[in-house]
Amino acid sequence: MLNEKLHFYIDNLISERNPLFTEMESYAKEHNVPIMELAGIEMMLQVLRIHRTHKILEVGTAIGYSGLRMAEAMPNAEIITIERDVERIQVAKEFIGRSLYGEQITLIEGDALEVEDQVRVHAPYDAIFIDAAKGQYQKFFTMYEKYLSPDGMIITDNVLFKGLVAEEEIESKRTRNLVKKIDAFNHWLMDHADYDSVILPVGDGVAISKRRGERK
Ligand code: SAH
Ligand code: MG
Repeated sequence: MLNEKLHFYIDNLISERNPLFTEMESYAKEHNVPIMELAGIEMMLQVLRIHRTHKILEVGTAIGYSGLRMAEAMPNAEIITIERDVERIQVAKEFIGRSLYGEQITLIEGDALEVEDQVRVHAPYDAIFIDAAKGQYQKFFTMYEKYLSPDGMIITDNVLFKGLVAEEEIESKRTRNLVKKIDAFNHWLMDHADYDSVILPVGDGVAISKRRGERK
């Protein structure tokens, strides 16, 4: 990971977001909502722009921050996003309602592992963004990759988990278990025959997996 100083330097170079986004960033900080880190989301938006993404599936809306940022960055894109937490759904709806991008966003309310029927309706997706329960990344991936377009990509957040994936000794048993799962996912992903994947040490660690052209 970058050292603190460089991290700070880069974040300061990133231009001011619009007032709604800065309000959402403050809300997230105040209420401990783990929205994507600034450098991480800027990198992701750039990759999505280059890829000319038109339809995106997001697993893990939270308060709608990343969804709305994608909508703003890509005016022609449609974002289908899933959230199960009732309170966050409420907050997300409010922010989406106040934004200029409401028409680009479809919020699916429920557990990502139980709403496949609703996800299928909007398929295929050019990109899938996985940013929900870390212990279930592989499940989300295998459940939804069938709705990815042939040259689509899957982006996964938090794959370095504050750097903990590289730590030997972790005190808390719960954290240790979670780290084990993320580590297992990372290995599985990097060895996956159908995708070329890269793990970028930006934000909290972001993996980008591009489906290989030739199908097995
Ligand atoms: N993508 C957001 C942050 C998401 S935080 C952003 O960057 O702005 C992760 C969210 O995933 C949490 O709000 C949590 O409630 C939700 N989540 C976790 N597991 C889920 C599941 N199985 N189905 C739906 N939502 C889930
Ligand atoms: Mg995240």
